Amino acid sequence: SIPLTFYGGIGAAARQGVMIKSSHQLELLTKADTFVFDKTGTLTEGVFEVKEIHPEGMTEEELLELTAYIEYFSNHPISMSLQKMYKKEVEKQRIEVVQEIPGQGIYALIDGKAAYAGNRELLRELRIAVPKVRAAGTIVYVALDGVYAGYIVIGDTLKKEVRETMDILKRRYHKELVMLTGDNEIVGGAVGKLLNMDHIYTNLLPAEKVEKVEEFIDSQQEDEKLVYVGDGINDAPVLKRADIGIAMGTLGAAAAVEAADIVLMEDDPSMILVILRIARETIGAIR
Ligand code: ADP
Ligand code: MG
Repeated sequence: SIPLTFYGGIGAAARQGVMIKSSHQLELLTKADTFVFDKTGTLTEGVFEVKEIHPEGMTEEELLELTAYIEYFSNHPISMSLQKMYKKEVEKQRIEVVQEIPGQGIYALIDGKAAYAGNRELLRELRIAVPKVRAAGTIVYVALDGVYAGYIVIGDTLKKEVRETMDILKRRYHKELVMLTGDNEIVGGAVGKLLNMDHIYTNLLPAEKVEKVEEFIDSQQEDEKLVYVGDGINDAPVLKRADIGIAMGTLGAAAAVEAADIVLMEDDPSMILVILRIARETIGAIR
């Protein structure tokens, strides 16, 4: 039987907008020593602004339109941002097939032509040559009918509570901080360094994020636990694999709510500190 105080902890968390699925998670949390974070939508707002538009063989307006059509049916933070920047009505009947390629981009059939929007690796796999560009942002390459059509540079901002939260986790609680991202090394490296992350891994596919988390878990002692914090977009398997999977800002991402052990109703990373405190107090009261 579970001591009543466990429910006290779960109740206290629920009142703060944190859903803890099992009381066991509270105990695991007191042993958490490694905190692994997804970048886009977790550490950052996931609301991108367009910084640069570089069309190839079409106008800027045409590239924006094509991109908005490709991204139209996805709820990935990049897609939502690119949909928003296109102000005209989208004629949905022109979009026939849409297929997300997790951690890389999107494929869509538009006006009967194969169109792609995604990272460099995606276009490389399609054998579509793209110029090597260095931009201080996330780069979305676009291709239409097997031909490179240009790229758009987009930029995201850190959530406002993130810096302080990482600082407290690291300096006060001496936790090891890790960032995993599918984004490029320029953006990922900048965000990771700014937050004093101990380990930064970029250009990762969703499956590679799971592998990284497994490596960290394998190198831990029995009483050390790993926390993964993600937004649930493409990272449900990582949420599952972690000792403690925390999903945040996932209103509507049913797969994330299902895969996670803990769900933050509010999109606020500093809630991690609140759950750590509740876990300590609850377990402390039981012991
Ligand atoms: P993160 O690991 O930072 O949460 P994702 O794994 O979701 O990022 O995506 C990794 C990279 O794949 C993005 O930085 C982007 O380059 C590309 N990508 C993913 N989804 C899309 C999309 N819907 N449209 C364009 N590019 C995308
Ligand atoms: Mg993500």
